[in-house]
Amino acid sequence: MHLLVCGGAGYVGSHVAKVLDARGHRVTVLDNLSTGHAQAVRWGPLIRADLLDPASLDAAFQDQRFDAVLHFCARSLVGESMAAPYDYYENNVVGTLNLLQAMRRHGVDRIVFSSTAAVFGNPVAALIDEDHPKAPINPYGASKLMVERILADAAHAYGLRSVCLRYFNAAGASANDGIGESHEPETHLIPNLLRALINPAAPLKVFGEDYPTPDGTCVRDYVHVLDLADAHARALDYMEAAPGAHAFNLGNGTGFSVMQVIRAAERVTGLPVPFERAPRRAGDPPVLVAASQRAREVLEWSPTHTSIEAILRTAWDWHRAPAF
Ligand code: UDP
Repeated sequence: MHLLVCGGAGYVGSHVAKVLDARGHRVTVLDNLSTGHAQAVRWGPLIRADLLDPASLDAAFQDQRFDAVLHFCARSLVGESMAAPYDYYENNVVGTLNLLQAMRRHGVDRIVFSSTAAVFGNPVAALIDEDHPKAPINPYGASKLMVERILADAAHAYGLRSVCLRYFNAAGASANDGIGESHEPETHLIPNLLRALINPAAPLKVFGEDYPTPDGTCVRDYVHVLDLADAHARALDYMEAAPGAHAFNLGNGTGFSVMQVIRAAERVTGLPVPFERAPRRAGDPPVLVAASQRAREVLEWSPTHTSIEAILRTAWDWHRAPAF
C-alpha cells in the first residue's frame, strides 16, 4: 500500500514509518515540523503541510494516490492541555476534521488514528478494556475522544473505515535506526529520568507522593514504541476485511509506579537517579493499566518488549547518543 503518515516526523509516527517500510509498504510523511524532526523522516519523502491549512492538504492529496492514512499529528501533553484547551481542540479536533474532509474529497477511505488511554479519565476498573466508560479529565483526552466519535459517525455516514489505537504510555526507541524520543520541552517520565542521569544537576521531579497507589506515586502501563508500531501495521491489514469504526487498547497489562520505573532505570544503567519530590501535576489519573485482550485476539498483536527493563534499555541507548 501507499500510506500517508501524518505526523511521521514525530516520536510514534517515525517508528511506525520504519515498521511499515519494513513490511513492504510505500510511505509518504506529512508533517508541519512544529514538534517533529526532519531527521526522523527516513523511510519516504516528507510533505510539509499543516492540518489547519486545508489547501496544503488538498495539494498533498492531489499529487498522488494513497490507500490509507495513519494519523499522529496532535498536541499531546496533558498539563499543557489544561492550560491551553483552545489550542488542543483546534489542533486535535479541527485539524483532524480538515484531514478527514480532505481524505473524503480525494477518495481515501481508511485511517488508523493515534488515540490514548486519556480518553478513559479516572479508571473505575483495575484493568481498562475497550468498554470501560470514557470520561476524560483533561482537554487532551477529550479532544481524542471527540475524534473517536467523529470517526464512528463517519463510518455510518460515509463508509469511512477506521481503527483507533489507544496507547497507554509509549516508551523506548529504535536507536540503531537513528530514531527515538525527543521533545522540547520534554515532559514524559522516562526521557526526563534519563536526562537526569546524564545531567544530575537537573534532577527528575516526581509529581505527587500521595496517590492511592502502593508507594503513593502514579502507576502507568509502559509499552514499547516498536510494539505500538507493529499494531498499526496489523490494523491496516485488519481494515481490509473490517468495515466500520474499531478501537483497541494497547498496553502490556502491567503497571509500574514512578518509583518502580526509577528503580528499574537504576538497575539497567547502574547509576543512581537524582530525583526530588514535587506536587501533583494537574490532570494525572493515579493508575492507568490496559487490558489489551481485544488487540491480542483480533489483531493477533503480541508485544515483544514486555519488561520495563527492556523498554528502558532501548530508551537509554537513544538518550546516550540521540541523533536529534
Ligand atoms: N512524571 C513525573 N515526573 C516527570 C514526568 C512525569 O513524576 O518529569 C509522572 C507523571 O506525573 C505521571 C507519570 O510520570 O504520573 C507518567 O507521565 P508521562 O508524562 O510520562 O505520561 P502520561 O501518563 O502523562 O501520558
